[in-house]
Amino acid sequence: KEETEYDLIAKSEVLQFYRPRTKYSHKGTYGHALIVGGSYGKIGAVTLSSKAALKSGSGLVTTYIPECGYQILQTSVPEIMVLTNGKTSLETIDFDIKPTVVGIGMGMGIGERTAKALTEFLKVNKLPLVLDADALNILSKNKESLKYLPEESILTPHPKELERLIGKWKDDFDKLKKVKAFSKKYKTIIIIKGAHTITFYQGKGYINTTGNPGMATAGSGDTLTGVITGLIAQGYTNMQAAIFGVYLHGKSGDLALEKTGYQSLVASDIINGLGQAFIDLF
Ligand code: AMP
Ligand code: MG
Repeated sequence: KEETEYDLIAKSEVLQFYRPRTKYSHKGTYGHALIVGGSYGKIGAVTLSSKAALKSGSGLVTTYIPECGYQILQTSVPEIMVLTNGKTSLETIDFDIKPTVVGIGMGMGIGERTAKALTEFLKVNKLPLVLDADALNILSKNKESLKYLPEESILTPHPKELERLIGKWKDDFDKLKKVKAFSKKYKTIIIIKGAHTITFYQGKGYINTTGNPGMATAGSGDTLTGVITGLIAQGYTNMQAAIFGVYLHGKSGDLALEKTGYQSLVASDIINGLGQAFIDLF
């Protein structure tokens, strides 16, 4: 029987594919990340993701949200462009811009109409995707829609979301076996979030070495989705963006920890630490 291979990911591994900025580049060189999500009372989730995409280097960031989030986003992050569907929830997902990549699901809700809108979007979408939170919860209940995901789509479940996707596991070995089977069946990259986040693709796992339990806090995962989406926008492959994004997010959390301590670390601290995490690479 075929073995699963594992690699540890530290600085020297991510430096192998790091893409430096070039002197004659412009914002168009670094792509356009589109973040889709949000609902009444959960605009914070998409705000964190969008800000993280921007702070990880995406040239442009647009956020697609229901109407209720318009003022909130435009005033809290002036660098971000905002599109709304003019409705009270994400019961339609339809935009006429051409982003490089889409990060979707944060704070989106799992209402019937939103679930239908997600499936309709997946049917026509050809862009690389990072799926998180409610997008994963919707797909867990509509497994037939998983066939519409482009190859190497990135799924970023926390433990409960992972359980909804692959079912209950007996122990860690069983969990990894089920993740491997899922990744092979749907050709998706799965990021198993937690203390030692593992980025899994088909027969291979990449174990991250950064991060700390201070990061077990609201919005931490939304931030990770934004970082990965922002890296894909800049031209990293999905696999590189997944591995590098998890590393940077953890490193940023480690740097933030020095100022906040474990208990007071919040997701915004992770976003604010991203700059130092990039600088720390050299
Ligand atoms: P979410 O539950 O979606 O907000 O995601 C939580 C994020 O925080 C993921 O990126 C996890 O890897 C990270 N995280 C949660 N708990 C820990 C922990 N004990 N050690 C390191 N990272 C953690
Ligand atoms: Mg989450």
